[in-house]
Amino acid sequence: MVEMLKGIAASDGVAVAKAYLLVQPDLSFQKKTVEDTAAEEKRLDDALAASSSELEKIRDKAAKSLGEEEAQVFDAHLMVLSDPEMIGQIKTHIQDNKVNAESALKEVTDMYIGMFEAMEDNAYMQERAADIRDVTKRVMAHLLNVKLPNPSMIDEEVVVVAHDLTPSDTAQLDKNFVKAFVTDIGGRTSHSAIMARSLEIPAIVGTMEITSKVNEGDMLAVNGIIGEVIVNPTDDQAAEFVKAGEAYAAQKAEWEKLKDAETVTADGKHFELAANIGTPKDLEGVHNNGAEAIGLYRTEFLYMDAPDFPSEEDQFEAYKAVLEGMGEHPVVVRTMDIGGDKELPYLQLPHEMNPFLGYRALRISLSELGDQMFRTQLRALLRASAYGNLRIMFPMVATLKEFRAAKQMYNEEREKLVNEGVKVSDTIQVGIMIEIPAAAVLADKFAKEVDFFSIGTNDLIQYTMAADRMNERVSYLYQPYNPSILRLIKNVIDAAHAEGKWAGMCGEMAGDQTAVPILMGMGLDEFSMSATSILKTRSLMKRLTTTEMAELADKALNDCDTMEEVVALVEQYVK
Ligand code: PEP
Ligand code: MG
Repeated sequence: MVEMLKGIAASDGVAVAKAYLLVQPDLSFQKKTVEDTAAEEKRLDDALAASSSELEKIRDKAAKSLGEEEAQVFDAHLMVLSDPEMIGQIKTHIQDNKVNAESALKEVTDMYIGMFEAMEDNAYMQERAADIRDVTKRVMAHLLNVKLPNPSMIDEEVVVVAHDLTPSDTAQLDKNFVKAFVTDIGGRTSHSAIMARSLEIPAIVGTMEITSKVNEGDMLAVNGIIGEVIVNPTDDQAAEFVKAGEAYAAQKAEWEKLKDAETVTADGKHFELAANIGTPKDLEGVHNNGAEAIGLYRTEFLYMDAPDFPSEEDQFEAYKAVLEGMGEHPVVVRTMDIGGDKELPYLQLPHEMNPFLGYRALRISLSELGDQMFRTQLRALLRASAYGNLRIMFPMVATLKEFRAAKQMYNEEREKLVNEGVKVSDTIQVGIMIEIPAAAVLADKFAKEVDFFSIGTNDLIQYTMAADRMNERVSYLYQPYNPSILRLIKNVIDAAHAEGKWAGMCGEMAGDQTAVPILMGMGLDEFSMSATSILKTRSLMKRLTTTEMAELADKALNDCDTMEEVVALVEQYVK
């Protein structure tokens, strides 16, 4: 049946392809008494064998695409599958209790998981529990004859459909095959949406009901520019989507001509256009899109992609690669921002009611749990500073005391390294993200002590409007053009300039084509965005003058009451 759904346009582009449901299947089963226990043991053996061969394939693929170290987690899973003691116990359970294999598998693995999880302060045991949980799911799926979705094994053109996609699910998507994704939940600034933009995978999030409307193999037509998806489109509808995709490709080709052009307005003012990255691999997109700097390197992906805390050496190599890759151009590296929607499997954070308001980012770095982690990262950064133009940025700063504590740790590690004879650059700037309203309001005080500000509007807007950035039900409150947000931003820019510092923006608003003219008018110095937004922003800036944009900004700040009025005003100024 043809069905049209609307969602939040999360990543530009158009695709028409078969649906691939990335939805956890129902693994519930009935406990049954059996007579033929040998037959149950055979079913178990078959499920174990099928799981092993599947895992071996996944492991090989992961080793090729992500590297040997990343593939190790699957070695651990394979070891669980061949653990003679555990498997022996499952079989004994079948024989002694005359129950089906599903029931025995669950009883015995639950017992192991419970035992390992009870050793709360032992990270190794916690990981074993997670491994057994994962493997049990796979074996159970084989016993029940249901398919477990596996994004890393997709090898044909599809549109991925999911309730939600975590950042690590998104990282596994191969853009050669995944032509788009559509989810039930999420917002434009959830991290999977941000990653979709840097991977250039068209995406729609927050449709609320895509998973209940789509069956495996349905055709989907997705337009990520306007946030529209059609399930089983007619031929005419599919052709219309293909046409929209071609028009978008032609527009992109026009923008690409500006790759090596300078970013100057029609009246000759230069603005710095920078890119946001998550890993050194993103450097390719940075260069292909003509970015002039890196305005945000989200280093937490380095932690999320590894089976354990990345060592100082591994981090040093990653930072050095990015700094060298950018030559003299500035690279703003943000210290790790774990928490919120970004979890680390090996760092057991307590479950929180409001993770975005909780133990996150610098709050972890400044606590006892994060002390070593933070110092290791600072050392790696300081060592890498000799290879380029480094700027260090702390995330989620609410108070000056937090900034001072972080800066002191930076100074201590710096001094230690210098005493050890290690070469450290003496032009490193140390700044903060302004993403908590308290810091935006007190920006004049912060400006005296930091080297720069970078405004993180993804969080600043969610905290100012009290609207969770992951929750599609309140996504109407993600209002970058609301005069309240604009006034906070203006306060931050003016505070920086009063102290001779620079102010940038690395939230998604920096690449928002309606916001850019206002931000230019307010005098923002640096705009950092998904690399894929850079060329269209350069093209826009070239058409505008700073004098007119200053007038526009002034009216938006002083004359407009609502976001809608600001949007209408921008339309008058930008034709
Ligand atoms: C922000 O909050 O605007 C930001 C850039 O950081 P993140 O999206 O990683 O929270
Ligand atoms: Mg943030």
